[in-house]
Amino acid sequence: MFDAAEFDQWIKSQNIARTVLYIQMHHTYIPAYEHFKGNNHFEMQRGMQHVHKVINGWSDIAQHFTIFPDGKIMTGRSLERTPSCIYGFNTHSICIENIGNFDEGGDLMRQEQRTGIIKATTSLVQRFNTPVNTDRIVYHHWFDLRTGERTNGSGSTKSCPGTAFFGGNKVADAQANFIPLIRTALQGIPPASPLNVQFYGSVTADSLNVRNAPAPSGKRLTAAELGSILRVYEIKNNWYRISATKNEWVFGNFVQRVERGTVNADSLNVRTGPAVTFRKVGSVKLNTEVFVYETVGDWIRISHDQQWVNRKLVTFA
Ligand SMILES: [Zn+2]
Repeated sequence: MFDAAEFDQWIKSQNIARTVLYIQMHHTYIPAYEHFKGNNHFEMQRGMQHVHKVINGWSDIAQHFTIFPDGKIMTGRSLERTPSCIYGFNTHSICIENIGNFDEGGDLMRQEQRTGIIKATTSLVQRFNTPVNTDRIVYHHWFDLRTGERTNGSGSTKSCPGTAFFGGNKVADAQANFIPLIRTALQGIPPASPLNVQFYGSVTADSLNVRNAPAPSGKRLTAAELGSILRVYEIKNNWYRISATKNEWVFGNFVQRVERGTVNADSLNVRTGPAVTFRKVGSVKLNTEVFVYETVGDWIRISHDQQWVNRKLVTFA
């Protein structure tokens, strides 16, 4: 559990292979303010996780982050995994659930929560270089519950994140209220460096030191784990810079280049080996980004582990 400043540090230190394009806003409706006692964050989070896993049958709690009435932020589902928050629009999304019922006549949002939502969204926008507009920061209300299509509120929709959420749940309300608050919060923060990703690589050492300079004498900042996907922005003397904005370098000998592709089938079977005779262990959905660790005939391994898919159902740029 974080306050907004801790969250900002934490999210910026995370290496996240999954490409994030959208930030979703929700309210929980239930639980609401009446259920929050000031010290029961963990119980409430566990309660939601229980409902999502046991009642709904999902793999984990639906959302990546929960923001409480006191502005505290709690992590939920792994950032490497797609949330279960907006039918038809979960891929490439980060899902934020704000505790409360923010429909008219419901809970009056506390100032601490308001500040927490603005700061956490600002941190996420910076971390993922997300353009601040209503194409990328989205409300549940804008999507049809049956088709998953974006209707901007017409058709069969939820009121989520609430008809009184930052002045209303319509696209025009977000453009007039919430979006400008994020833009204002970003002022004075330097924009991300224009560096582009040169290639992607996976870590081949059990633990690969990340240093603040392209040399073994650089100060050790953290370590990347075996199999992690890194974005490489610059190369110097066989050292790879893995941050667009910060001096974070790893030794290139322990990074294997991997090709990046996108799943072009509605559902693509994942097997334990490079043939249909191998056991199916799962599936990946349309438009999921995958990385190629190895190729055998028509099959590609998309994980450090034995997870294989048919290459024909993956599109490469
Ligand atoms: Zn929602």
